[in-house]
Amino acid sequence: MTGSGSLSACLAGAASALLAASCVPQDHGWASRYRPAQELKIAVVMPPNAPSISQQFLFTTNDAKHIGIDVIGRVGTPVIAAADGRVRGSFYEPAYGHRIEIEHGPDSAGRRAVTVYKHLRERLVGEGALVRRGEQIATLGTTGMLGGGIPHLHFELFRQAGDESEVSADPHLFWAGGVGRVTCFDPAAHYDATLFRTTYPVPCR
Ligand SMILES: [Zn+2]
Repeated sequence: MTGSGSLSACLAGAASALLAASCVPQDHGWASRYRPAQELKIAVVMPPNAPSISQQFLFTTNDAKHIGIDVIGRVGTPVIAAADGRVRGSFYEPAYGHRIEIEHGPDSAGRRAVTVYKHLRERLVGEGALVRRGEQIATLGTTGMLGGGIPHLHFELFRQAGDESEVSADPHLFWAGGVGRVTCFDPAAHYDATLFRTTYPVPCR
């Protein structure tokens, strides 16, 4: 399990293709493979300084679902808003623990989006708060029921469909740097506010 000096949860030499969901060979710059059942598999490009992803998005009609990505980190790591928005939910429930939901948009396409942050240790913003991209909203934790047991942020994204419904989407579709290109938040960067595009929900080192 997690050692005190590193988050790595694999034994040395376990660079096999059969990595368990909780087996993370390095704590930055690594992303798990998609499960075979996931139809749309995005080529994920991880910056070497970005905290690793231990589990990818999975959405099938008849299989177990994982409608988000898991970003590993030490308990207490800042969790930051993935885009400008308004907090529409900040609460605790037993399954996913402390959670924050942020509503974004509508963007130039007239559609809203929602990002969701789960298993938080503490929530730093309440319902109705306006948040800026990159602003700290919470700390990473282990609240709720954690599959695999490694401390992580479970990060979800929903996009408004044609009607008012919200559809779960793979977060890798919306990075500011392009599809699949995990994009670290950079306070000096300019982000196009007319499009819904996200930056990584935890700081890169
Ligand atoms: Zn998860």
